[in-house]
Amino acid sequence: MNMKHPVLTHQVDAQRAATYEKAVSRVMAMSEEEMLKLIPTKSAILFCGCANCSGGQQENGMFEWTIERPSELRCKFCKHVYPSEKYPVNWTATGRNALGETVTYKYYFDEKAKRDFWFEAHADYFLRSWFVGQCLALAQAYHATQKPQYARRAALILDRFAQAYPRMAVLSQWPYRRRDVVKPTPPYPHAGGKWGRWSSDEVPHHLPEAYDLIHDSAELDKLSQQQGADVRKRIENDFFRATVQYMFTFEREPTGVHLNNMAPHYTRNIIHIGRVIGEPDYVHWGYRWVGNILRDGFFYDGMWHEAPSYHYQTIGGVRRVVAALKGYSDPLGYRRAADGMRLENLDLEAQLPFVAKAMAAPSLVAYPNGRICPVHDSWATSRTIAPREQTSSTLLPGFGHASLGRGRGENQLQAQMHFSGGYGHSHADNLHFALFAKGSELLSDIGYTHSKLRRWTVSTIGHNLVAIDRQDQTTRDADGDLLMFVPDLNGLAVVEARGERGYPKLAEVYRRELILVPVSETDA
Ligand SMILES: [Zn+2]
Ligand SMILES: [Zn+2]
Repeated sequence: MNMKHPVLTHQVDAQRAATYEKAVSRVMAMSEEEMLKLIPTKSAILFCGCANCSGGQQENGMFEWTIERPSELRCKFCKHVYPSEKYPVNWTATGRNALGETVTYKYYFDEKAKRDFWFEAHADYFLRSWFVGQCLALAQAYHATQKPQYARRAALILDRFAQAYPRMAVLSQWPYRRRDVVKPTPPYPHAGGKWGRWSSDEVPHHLPEAYDLIHDSAELDKLSQQQGADVRKRIENDFFRATVQYMFTFEREPTGVHLNNMAPHYTRNIIHIGRVIGEPDYVHWGYRWVGNILRDGFFYDGMWHEAPSYHYQTIGGVRRVVAALKGYSDPLGYRRAADGMRLENLDLEAQLPFVAKAMAAPSLVAYPNGRICPVHDSWATSRTIAPREQTSSTLLPGFGHASLGRGRGENQLQAQMHFSGGYGHSHADNLHFALFAKGSELLSDIGYTHSKLRRWTVSTIGHNLVAIDRQDQTTRDADGDLLMFVPDLNGLAVVEARGERGYPKLAEVYRRELILVPVSETDA
């Protein structure tokens, strides 16, 4: 298929050529040999703690790293430097890659704390990220200047990764769990991968875009001649397609496991790959994914099924997927065999008004100061809309959340009641009550935390409600029912809901009614 590249929309401003050239000066200062030797070819590890201190959290973002000392990690908290004689990497993890070759990793093991520290593989993670960034920057510099040396360097990096990918082992990794080399065949772990630190980032970002920018460069032909192999095919088949096929082992159709809050990232990448290498099947997959996630992942009121924070993450991702599809047309004469579908000049944002509705859904119950309604796993400090001037009663009947409201400016008041079920990232919080008045949240929901207090934030007694026999509510099949909603009857507002399903064996009657009664112009 002969398409003119680039096929994606790139924000590269040729007027700023000097900026792009400066961005790649460090990698261009290396010889080609030096550069190729540095590019990591093994699967890397994201989560790595410091063996010398207890700073930081989640074994993530612990270290400083620089390309000037690429195998060195420096703890941000205690400043200890690895590799370290005090914490030698004298344990090994061994396994096989998909070609049957042995792959070995060295790590330090703290026998008292029973914790493993993969310093080398973590330094590789930094190094690989650096080269991914440089590869895209090189492609942009090429696009802005048309200087072939930039295309050549980008091609060398891509080809290095393409040769490495089939030999990469599948690692399992998650904070505070023993990392390991696992079997190189499906079913692959969710918490791990070859390119990805988990399945959600197995399909690379930035590199398909870089490849798009250099695709038509003669440097790729020259490199193919030198290598005695079709380098374009190697990058497309051994790397890009292989990562997409890896994702398809979880489920071939864009359904079920693919309808999660991280899926927008790899769906966007799959679409980019499909467009860049000319594989309409991948673009169609992304197109069907949009329809499926909007239908199965969101309630009819536009809310994502988990929590307001995840709502924004997911719908923001859906919009990026929609943007990745924009303007796409199938190659002349193409129809997808399975359904006869042909895509022509896509513009889903215009064709699916539900996307705009979903974008705005949680703002209906945001606090007057613009902060997110912090139910379920939502970051309570997120500010998602501009502060409101006026508040009235609002309802998300699909999600299960009502807000009685009145007032202007400083006198805005909200009494909110929550009666949703649990569909991931939920709390045991049926009939929870929150109050916002006089510019502050007076009765709160703590929302999300990754700290030790997480157990409290999700528990029933961590909410403003009646707990029965000190028991946690169930969150399975626990949807509440809205019994009455009166938004404004000459200033009076009422909401009533029931939540017996939260206490399946315990509660005969479990109801709450909130009545907002005005007592003056400004108070209620
Ligand atoms: Zn430290
Ligand atoms: Zn909560």
